[in-house]
Amino acid sequence: MRTTDWGDGGARRADAVVIGGGTVGGWCAWMLRQAGLERVVVVERSTLGRGASSRAAGMVRSQGGTPTAVQLGIWSRDFYLRQADELGVDSGFVAQGYFMPAFDTEAVRIGQARVAMQKGLGLHVDWLSASEAASVTPTLAPDAHLGGSYAPGDGWLDPPRNVLAYSIALHRAGVEVIERTEFTAIIFQAKLNRFASTLHEGVEVFCLGVAAPQAGDCGDVVAFLVPFDDDGEFARTLHTPILA
Ligand SMILES: Cc1cc2nc3c(=O)[nH]c(=O)nc-3n(C[C@H](O)[C@H](O)[C@H](O)COP(=O)(O)OP(=O)(O)OC[C@H]3O[C@@H](n4cnc5c(N)ncnc54)[C@H](O)[C@@H]3O)c2cc1C
Repeated sequence: MRTTDWGDGGARRADAVVIGGGTVGGWCAWMLRQAGLERVVVVERSTLGRGASSRAAGMVRSQGGTPTAVQLGIWSRDFYLRQADELGVDSGFVAQGYFMPAFDTEAVRIGQARVAMQKGLGLHVDWLSASEAASVTPTLAPDAHLGGSYAPGDGWLDPPRNVLAYSIALHRAGVEVIERTEFTAIIFQAKLNRFASTLHEGVEVFCLGVAAPQAGDCGDVVAFLVPFDDDGEFARTLHTPILA
C-alpha cells in the first residue's frame, strides 16, 4: 500500500487513484481492481458520467486507422459482448454493423489498405462496392459514394446505460468513488510540482483526457498516461496487458 494525501487534512492510502469518472476512468478503475489492486479510488469533480460519456452517440467501431486502435477496438467490443455474463450488467451494446463510405478515389485507396491491415489483425471487415453497400444498408444512395469498409460486428452502445453499468461494477468491486471533488492540482498547477510532492515515489497516477500530457513532469511519480492526440486516436504511451 502506498500513501497519498488529497487535501482533506490527513494522509489516506490507495494503490491507485483514477482522476475522472467517465467511461475511461470508470472502467479503468474497475480493471485495476480486477488486476488485483487492493484499494482503488476514483476522484470525480461532478458525478459519475457527467462528462462526455453520458452524452456520446455511442458508436463502437473496431475499424481504427492504426493497429493499436484496431486491437483496442476489438478488445473493447468483445468486452461489451461478455459484460452481461461476467458482470450481470451491460452497456447495451448492439452489433448492428458499421459502414465507412469513401467519396473519392484517394479515400478508396486508403480505405482498402486500411481494410487489409485490419483483416491482418483478425477483424471481420470487408470492402463493399457501392451496390454491395446498398444491399446491406438500403437507405444508402448507391450513387453518392464509391463504396466503403463494412464491419458487421461493430455497432453502438447506450451511453447512459454504460455509465450505469460501470457505476454498478465499481460499487460491486469495492472501488471507492469520491464524487463532487475536483482534483485541482492536475488541472491548474503548471508543472504539477505541488501535486508530485504530495505523492510518494511509485504511486500510480492515471490522468485521462487533455490533462494527461501535463502530467509528464511528475518527477519520481510513476504516471501511466492516456493522452488523446489531435486526430482523436489515443494511447501512444499506454502500456496495457490488452496489447501484450
Ligand atoms: C456529442 C458527442 C458524441 C460522441 N459520440 C461518440 C461515439 O459515437 N463513439 C465514441 O466512441 N465516442 C463518442 N464521443 C466521445 C466519447 O464520449 C468520449 O471519448 C468519452 O466519453 C471520453 O471518456 P472520458 O472518460 O475520457 O471523459 P468524460 O466522460 O468526459 O469523463 C471525464 C470525467 O473527468 C471529470 N473531471 C474532469 N476534470 C476533473 C478534475 N480535475 N477532477 C476530478 N474530475 C475531473 C469530469 O467531470 C468527467 O466526469 C462523443 C462525444 C460527444 C460529446
